[in-house]
Amino acid sequence: MTLIIVRTIYNQLEFQIERFIYMTETRHNWTKEEVMEVYNTPLMELLYQAATVHRENHNPNQVQVSTLLSIKTGGCPEDCGYCPQAARYHTDIEGNDLMSVQQVKAQALRAKSSGSSRVCMGAAWRNVKDGPEFDNVLEMVRTINKLDMEVCCTLGMITENQAQRLAEAGLYAYNHNLDTSEDYYKDVISTRAFQDRLDTIDNVRKTNVTVCSGGIIGMGEQLEDRAGMLVALASLSPQPESTPINALVPVEGTPMEEFEKVSIWEMVRMVATTRIILPNTQVRLSAGRTDMSREGQAMCFFAGANSIFAGDKLLTTPNPDVNEDMKMFKLLGLQPMKPFAKKAQPESVEAQYSKFKEQGEKPKWSRPGHKIERNEEAKAKAKL
Ligand code: SF4
Repeated sequence: MTLIIVRTIYNQLEFQIERFIYMTETRHNWTKEEVMEVYNTPLMELLYQAATVHRENHNPNQVQVSTLLSIKTGGCPEDCGYCPQAARYHTDIEGNDLMSVQQVKAQALRAKSSGSSRVCMGAAWRNVKDGPEFDNVLEMVRTINKLDMEVCCTLGMITENQAQRLAEAGLYAYNHNLDTSEDYYKDVISTRAFQDRLDTIDNVRKTNVTVCSGGIIGMGEQLEDRAGMLVALASLSPQPESTPINALVPVEGTPMEEFEKVSIWEMVRMVATTRIILPNTQVRLSAGRTDMSREGQAMCFFAGANSIFAGDKLLTTPNPDVNEDMKMFKLLGLQPMKPFAKKAQPESVEAQYSKFKEQGEKPKWSRPGHKIERNEEAKAKAKL
């Protein structure tokens, strides 16, 4: 017990020191205009600048590999315009109740044996509710942490107490994407507000869990919105430890089904700009990688991407096969990063010793409820 307390204090101290270094070294006051200027820099110059920042802050030959696991699929009450898991749209997604701890453990072992250092568990929930399902998720966190893998969760909005309980179970990272700029957010989602995202990130920041937050490009946004999202991420103090950059995968039945896919050049520019604006962050190539050639991905790694999702599925959208990724790593001379390379492994406190008990909170997350035309159309089409 004493050893656990000493390790916990040590981990927290280490985390506070890292935060202090971040705050003194990292720029948080980027403007949209400045970010757009970076994005529009002639490509060769942009790549050179991004690669330089990358080398100053990271080992350019190491890439962190995560496996994304959908522990509860579909039936989500939210109306995110890009998401096939929203119950109100008619898509081919097969819904699943929450997986068991044993199923998750088996998948985590598989992920570990194929080179992943992190398991990210996603549940299609609006927000976390205290109760048996959340208790099961906490047990999944303990189980994976004991496999010496980093554990990340993406479960929707969470309160401070829920974040503390996840931290105590041994959670390494919590994912909550900003998705896009605050201005464009209202054109994508009507069931919650941008501020709810920031509040959840703030709740995670009150613990020693790291923050993973990024967004999606190709949702009909302007360059100004891409810049706006990066300004918002950069202004967080500390900035997120990891930032996924997704390219929209248009799925039939969703409001964005007919959107054009983004080009590799947009992806490369977005990755390079993110690397320059968020120098210490792990920049993760996420959805949309199946449409990228090896050459395209290599350019993204050169521009500062240093994390990928492995496995043939990204929640519900396709992703390159893990063997193909390992062949690409070999070809490019990249190595998968070891777990806990950036921050020490958290301790898992067993449920019976938990300091943070369930509080049965009923937080008032917002529900703006404004009409988004394309979301309404997709909903009406689904009813038909
Ligand atoms: S993105 Fe998440 S919150 Fe939004 S509809 Fe999909 S599962 Fe629900």
